Amino acid sequence: MQVFRSLDEFKKARKDLHSVSSIGLVPTMGALHAGHASLAEKAVAENPYTIATIFVNPTQFGPNEDLDKYPRTLEADLKLLDDIGVSVVLAPNVAEIYGDGRSLVSFQIKEMDRKLCGATRPGHFNGVVQIVSILFNLAQPDKAYFGEKDFQQLMIIRRMIQELHFPLEAVGCPIVREEDGLAMSSRNLYLKPDERKQALFLNKALQEIRKDFHQFRNKEEVLERVHERMKDYPLVKLDYFDVLEAHDLSEIEDFQQAKQAHLFVAAFLGKTRLIDNMSLS
Ligand code: AMP
Repeated sequence: MQVFRSLDEFKKARKDLHSVSSIGLVPTMGALHAGHASLAEKAVAENPYTIATIFVNPTQFGPNEDLDKYPRTLEADLKLLDDIGVSVVLAPNVAEIYGDGRSLVSFQIKEMDRKLCGATRPGHFNGVVQIVSILFNLAQPDKAYFGEKDFQQLMIIRRMIQELHFPLEAVGCPIVREEDGLAMSSRNLYLKPDERKQALFLNKALQEIRKDFHQFRNKEEVLERVHERMKDYPLVKLDYFDVLEAHDLSEIEDFQQAKQAHLFVAAFLGKTRLIDNMSLS
């Protein structure tokens, strides 16, 4: 496995790959776990050549978020990717990607940005599409692999690919969970033992609402139940719980008719913000 820190060297190596039939791309922020590994495994299985990137992208973090303390575990990450059979890792520093940081072009996501993480993390998805389009330009993949854990992100990236005519396909990969159901996340490393236990609220709430979905007539009733359940988890501070149409994140007019409803949750355990989601079907 080759590891590049320099973009110039990476670009040279990328030019030599013109005869490769299919290139897979796995963008990550590092601190890799089995969720990331599942993306890399799928990419390696589906493409003769896989590029993984490790880059903690500053432009997708808000001013009071965890950019500075985001876990960085490069050595272990490289070993995991090497063991899976990834061909190349690109792990540039911030200056390599953004120069002096004064960019001329800015990205602005509309519509989908007003919901869920877009609403509670202003500017987050602008930063996500900025870095993902830079990585698409650098790696020029045929397929790029993203986790359904970040469901809204995957939808926005698919739209971006369509609108900007990137000649590639975004492949969605199912959420990988801990044995007790907690969705794997690099941020789980922040959790204190009591927070870790109560973090189960996210998955439990999704499961309970899914199981009883036919009982609810509207979102208010869903939220009532969610708040009722939160009483058992005093360390949980809810960021949002929402039920939306899966294909475009629009509101659902009639719960009884909903076929493609999808459940979304975000919550804080102390300072750690976690997300999860689940399909109703
Ligand atoms: P991150 O390093 O958090 O930016 O995540 C990199 C990629 O891994 C994104 O496409 C995430 O959706 C995906 N990912 C993170 N956690 C999981 C998980 N538990 N299951 C599946 N994919 C995941």
